[in-house]
Amino acid sequence: MTSTKSGINTIINNGIGILGGTFDPIHLGHTQSAQAVANQLNLTEVLLIPTHIPPHKISAKLVPHASAEQRAAMVEIACQKSELFTCDLRELKRSGHSYTVDTLKELKQQYPTKALFFIIGMDSLLTFTTWHKYKEILSLCHLVVNTRPNYSIEQLNEETKTLLSNCQTADLTELTLVNHGKIFFAIKYFLDVSSTQIRRRLAQKKAYNHQLSPSISEFIHKNKLYR
Ligand code: ATP
Repeated sequence: MTSTKSGINTIINNGIGILGGTFDPIHLGHTQSAQAVANQLNLTEVLLIPTHIPPHKISAKLVPHASAEQRAAMVEIACQKSELFTCDLRELKRSGHSYTVDTLKELKQQYPTKALFFIIGMDSLLTFTTWHKYKEILSLCHLVVNTRPNYSIEQLNEETKTLLSNCQTADLTELTLVNHGKIFFAIKYFLDVSSTQIRRRLAQKKAYNHQLSPSISEFIHKNKLYR
């Protein structure tokens, strides 16, 4: 039994955190909020899983993007800096689009005795009910939601509100009683940063270093990304 920062005793020592993202680039909002979740839930491993970027996402944002290899390299660098993180390239290795539900099914097979904690930001919760087989996703993992500036619970659609009324828990011990199906809002950890902001700032030659770890800044600089 261990004690979390919130003072609630919990025995989550057999879980794996999962953070999927385009990581274009990976920034401190990703790593610090995932670290805060790991601290709160007592997780010792978080998988960072770079996803394919859907074509509409690229064309919708009028700034240059990194290649899949470069995004993966940046995630690898972030993992070298922390024992908590492991880079998992399974989605990039699949051809074409891959669904979260398929990744979670694979992970469940790979770690049959572990509870999976899928970490998302509030922006992702807003669209969660549009995700492919979202109910099945919840049959494979718990969702842990991180707050983000400019995204609030008031913006949720009716379906997500219903989902929350059925699945939300604020009780960490409840997360230990079952190994899937709960939605938990993590301790508020606000870092006002997004990859879009960073790409824009770089394209406009504005300062961005406070939003990235120095080794990722160095990689971006060396590879002349996002100019
Ligand atoms: P973009 O601006 O290109 O859309 P992003 O900064 O939102 O990118 P993604 O790689 O798309 O980053 O995000 C991966 C996951 O990390 C998502 O669930 C997202 O909600 C979450 N996330 C991103 N930035 C933050 C942040 N500052 N705080 C908490 N969660 C975040």
